[in-house]
Amino acid sequence: MKTSIIGYPRIGKLRELKFASEKYFRNEIAQSELFDTAKKLRTENLTEQKNSGLDFIPSNDFSFYDGMLDTAFLLNVVPDRYKNLGLSPLDEYFAAARGYQGEKGDVKALAMKKWFNTNYHYMVPEIDDNTVLKLSDNKPFELFTEALDNGVKTTPVIIGPYTFLELARYIGTKTKENFFGNITDAYIQIIGKFVTLGAEWLQLDEPCLVKDMSRENIEFFNSLYTKILENKNGLKIRLQTYFGDVRDCYKEICALDFDGIGLDFIEGKKTHELIEKNGFPCDKVLFAGVVNGKNIWRNNYEKTVELLKNLQNKSINTVINTSCSLLHIPYTLKNEVKLSDTYKKHFSYASEKLVELNEIKKIIETEDYCNLPEYTANIKLFSEERSGCNTNVKEKVNALSEKDFTRLPVFSEREKIQKEEFKLPLLPTTTIGSFPQTSDVRQTRASYKKANISETDYEKFMKSKIAECIELQENIGLDVLVHGEFERNDMVEYFGECLDGYIFTEKAWVQSYGTRCVKPPVVWGDISRAKPMTVKWSTYAQSLTEKPVKGMLTGPVTILNWSFPREDISLKESAYQIALAIREEVLDLEASGIKIIQIDEAALREKLPLRKCDWNKEYLDWAIKAFRLVHSGVKSETQIHTHMCYSEFADIIEDIDNMDADVITFEASRSDLTLLDVLKAKKFRTEVGPGVYDIHSPRIPTVEEIKSAINKMLSKVSYNKLWINPDCGLKTRGNEETVQSLKNLVKATKEIREENNL
Ligand code: GLN
Ligand code: ZN
Repeated sequence: MKTSIIGYPRIGKLRELKFASEKYFRNEIAQSELFDTAKKLRTENLTEQKNSGLDFIPSNDFSFYDGMLDTAFLLNVVPDRYKNLGLSPLDEYFAAARGYQGEKGDVKALAMKKWFNTNYHYMVPEIDDNTVLKLSDNKPFELFTEALDNGVKTTPVIIGPYTFLELARYIGTKTKENFFGNITDAYIQIIGKFVTLGAEWLQLDEPCLVKDMSRENIEFFNSLYTKILENKNGLKIRLQTYFGDVRDCYKEICALDFDGIGLDFIEGKKTHELIEKNGFPCDKVLFAGVVNGKNIWRNNYEKTVELLKNLQNKSINTVINTSCSLLHIPYTLKNEVKLSDTYKKHFSYASEKLVELNEIKKIIETEDYCNLPEYTANIKLFSEERSGCNTNVKEKVNALSEKDFTRLPVFSEREKIQKEEFKLPLLPTTTIGSFPQTSDVRQTRASYKKANISETDYEKFMKSKIAECIELQENIGLDVLVHGEFERNDMVEYFGECLDGYIFTEKAWVQSYGTRCVKPPVVWGDISRAKPMTVKWSTYAQSLTEKPVKGMLTGPVTILNWSFPREDISLKESAYQIALAIREEVLDLEASGIKIIQIDEAALREKLPLRKCDWNKEYLDWAIKAFRLVHSGVKSETQIHTHMCYSEFADIIEDIDNMDADVITFEASRSDLTLLDVLKAKKFRTEVGPGVYDIHSPRIPTVEEIKSAINKMLSKVSYNKLWINPDCGLKTRGNEETVQSLKNLVKATKEIREENNL
């Protein structure tokens, strides 16, 4: 059996590409220096993969920003507004990625969207009626040749035509069908070029096949590839899928003239079953994704070997593959110097996954593999009792019953009690939580972390910031205040650090989009709360004002979705553990006199399964319950808020209402408020605060603008249920623009109240 990967991280072990790109954006280095850095990183990756013994080494998985964007440029799907700037090819590319504002013009970037169920984001290709789709770039060929010059015949990787056309945005009257001829021609040309260059394989990524496919979709896919594969010219084509199984089109793809098919055995729940039921064509190679490309844990060799042996017994020609590109995990454990070996021995980042692939190959090739040291060491690792077990937490989770997920009295009764309790004006004004994190705030936090300042000094500083923030909000005239979240670097990391069961890495960066990377914390053991996490800050803030101050927490689903989760227990169990910990905090806040508590679920939608039929059973059923568990124990007069960073929840609107929060704030300023129609149609009962202005831009919204947004909202939402707030936290904004924007928000609200006699 040979080994393969689908793609490798590219941002650099120490984020070299990020830093070089950002320097280039700031005009601090020339293009040639950025190109040199990129080439060096590609060569390093290639050498590492070659030395690991990997058989199928990819090329063109490198990107300066994003692979979809690269494919758009490859196919000439570049809107005129970027071409018309007259920039160099690289700058035109970056203009599409990040927008351009300079002497040659002022254009916004392409839209960006979440890449399937990952935290990676891709640039959405934009197709209008003038788009001439044709082969127009050389990058895949250059990178293939570059690797060949380094002695490696790679498998070039390109997004396939089906996924490309599916994910593109059509802004004219044309649809994907109109591009059938041009796109098949382009891919046939690509194939021709690789044949000339001497390639053996081409990998076409088609992750869209793991989503629900209609009959029309399947037919469209079929005709695209029938045409393309008629023109293979001897090049072997691997259809690569990932992030799930291909249950809707398995038979069709087996019947097409592919030479290899890549299937995901990790997230593809039905992959095995599909093969069992339908067999696998003997003229094709199965690239079996058995090593998890998305998580950082070591592979369980016993299970993997059993699976591979089973495929072998069916005489399936199998290559050992990762489940998806390794883009979604960090580079190497070698840079994790502080983390103890107790943990590290369970970890496997991209470069360790290469070793695993090679070890699995060796095991499969060895008749008496049970005595191989690689195998026995792995068996031992998985049989060891892992530290971090907390029987108390486990018992609590096991003992949960329906009443723990049910808040009483019911919403309508609570709503009355709370109106009486708070006596807020109609259209209450508030913010989402954080206030600008100026450099003094960040510096003080960093010094405290490095133990350069004492706890007392740190507390004194934070309290002074909180006091300033409360005074500011009172002056502005907001109705429900916040403490400002100055103590938090990040809404998940902060809680992770306060919870037992979490561990943190040093250099485990993962690309989120372009030059932005995230460093997700790791759920290691059973999660519990060692001590109150936010109570002292919230109560201090409340002590300074008569107005209610919201306690501010991150919800269990978001904490889990932005971490590397455990694989030895279910996501549901982890979510309930985290929920129990946050619940304790909620009850402590309440007992300390905090009357409004906001539990942010910024990432609730993020891990929604890719197939609609899996939504409830596999996700929402426990995700919504985890949220309910957090707040079901509070008194009727305690008001629970939640916040979401997007407004795309029309399709899960009932589940959102079922979270049973009293108020929900969400992003709405950039969308066209269509969600409000849905709220109305579905008789949404939770009170709502659709953001009245966009905090992602430094622009100060005018009073008139905000009034018009509020008026639109009032035409769809009862004045009894509407809150007025910005659309997200203010932490990335500057002080001046924030103060002015909030003043306008309050002024607009007051004018509306007067005009409508509210
Ligand atoms: N309360 C958080 C803040 O205001 C919410 C952040 C978010 O929604 N991403 O920063
Ligand atoms: Zn938000």
